[in-house]
Amino acid sequence: MSCEVDVLIVGSGFGGTLAALLCQRIGLRPLVVDAQSHPRFMIGESTTPLANLVLESLADKYQLPWLKPFANYTSWKQTSPQLDVGLKRGFSYFHHQRGEPFRPRTDHANELLVAASHGPDDADTHWLRADFDHFLVQQARRVDLPILEQTRITELTATGDRWTVTVVSEPACEPWTMNAGFIIDASGAGGFLTQALDLPVLTSSLLTHSRAILGHFRRVRPWQDVYTAAGGTVADHPFPCDQAALHHVFDGGWMYQLRFDSGITSAGFSLSDLQPTASPEVEWSRLLHDYPSIGAQFADAELISNQGRLIATQRLQRRIGQAAGPNWALLPTAAGIIDALHSTGNGHTLIGLERLITILEQHWRSPRLAPALAEYDRTLQAEIVMIDRIVAGCYRGFRDFPRMVAMSLFYFATAIWSELRLRSGQDLPTAFLCANEPELQAAIEQALAVIGRTDVSTTAVVAAIQQAIAPFNRADLGDPRRRNMYPYPK
Ligand SMILES: Cc1cc2nc3c(=O)[nH]c(=O)nc-3n(C[C@H](O)[C@H](O)[C@H](O)COP(=O)(O)OP(=O)(O)OC[C@H]3O[C@@H](n4cnc5c(N)ncnc54)[C@H](O)[C@@H]3O)c2cc1C
Repeated sequence: MSCEVDVLIVGSGFGGTLAALLCQRIGLRPLVVDAQSHPRFMIGESTTPLANLVLESLADKYQLPWLKPFANYTSWKQTSPQLDVGLKRGFSYFHHQRGEPFRPRTDHANELLVAASHGPDDADTHWLRADFDHFLVQQARRVDLPILEQTRITELTATGDRWTVTVVSEPACEPWTMNAGFIIDASGAGGFLTQALDLPVLTSSLLTHSRAILGHFRRVRPWQDVYTAAGGTVADHPFPCDQAALHHVFDGGWMYQLRFDSGITSAGFSLSDLQPTASPEVEWSRLLHDYPSIGAQFADAELISNQGRLIATQRLQRRIGQAAGPNWALLPTAAGIIDALHSTGNGHTLIGLERLITILEQHWRSPRLAPALAEYDRTLQAEIVMIDRIVAGCYRGFRDFPRMVAMSLFYFATAIWSELRLRSGQDLPTAFLCANEPELQAAIEQALAVIGRTDVSTTAVVAAIQQAIAPFNRADLGDPRRRNMYPYPK
């Protein structure tokens, strides 16, 4: 058997399958291969206003009307109630001291809540990736897109300006070849092209160091229950703090919790100490013991993923030094992964995908394709570096919460700035979180230079970071009168 396609896409996560759907809309013939089959467990669930703006714009621009309702919690529930989803009103952060229960304060100095919506009608979502990715694959098959599961590429050869690819699909296991004009690597951490083309790996240039222990659970007690039982009052909270990407932060790491309507909670610890000291289960129990208020949430919890075993990763960070060539490109997660802090992954993937499809649409078979892809690479590199710098700065601030809050405002300021520019339709950002703006890059470096300094007071560090953010801060972030509580702007 052999076949000829325009674009071979490696990986059928949401990035790869959407890439195939969009390639078809611009008149190219794609084919997707994935080593696994759907439905399958996958992390990376929480979305953001930027991610959903881009999802909506892709649905409109490329006439995929069924895709548009997924950009919003209420429309998702109305159109696809069978697919599990979580309501995400914003981002919540709570700071914990080791060995002590969380003590709510009336000034909210150990909390940060940033709303990303006015209510469920314009709220973001958590995607249960098993459901969502499987649904996208089914939609792709409905329009006759070939998606080959349980399929591996065993050989890749450049033949002139095209690729000859040998693949093996289970259970037949008979090798066959295809010919492709372009390859999109949507294999995420699988790193297909990185290995096949021996691409340069620049992970050592990254400042963030973390690994994760994670799983899906049932019966995780809402944080708001534990918080109010400890005397906390939620009257100032701009949204229910569990309807969020909820972050528990502490010296050395943080935990995320994402709640789905089915009762599943996706939860994981990200830890800056890269060396495991015990099995994932023992480390998990120790962390719940060390942070007793988090432990109280998990007292009756049941782990339901991965046959009842926690998943432990190695170092999460990866940066590939070249993200595109004349007839190939990596999607953002194949080019770099930093950490789940602030949920940047899905928005970055969608923005990278939009940019790549525009390039293919405008320059397919034109001499402009290679320079446009070189620019795609440069932008992606700047984005990965910026996410790394913001996240690394936040990790440095975990010990001293006001510093972490100040640094995290770089994420919120640039996300809001990008959102405003996108919504206005003017001065459109050309990179995720405006990462290619030199003044912004310099401001982040300025903040990084002070955030960890123990010889400078926290007040002075926070003031210096806020001064660095000021030119990009369109939402009064950092105003002490807000007391770390940010409703969504009217
Ligand atoms: C711990 C953690 C938590 C995260 N949480 C969030 C979050 O809450 N919000 C957010 O926005 N982002 C999050 N992310 C990032 C998020 O996971 C990614 O943005 C997202 O998964 C990218 O989707 P994708 O389709 O590009 O790749 P993936 O989802 O990684 O899919 C890759 C696909 O490629 C296939 N594949 C891999 N190798 C090969 C190969 N050699 N041949 C064939 N197929 C292959 C795999 O089977 C898989 O189906 C998180 C990341 C981590 C590590």
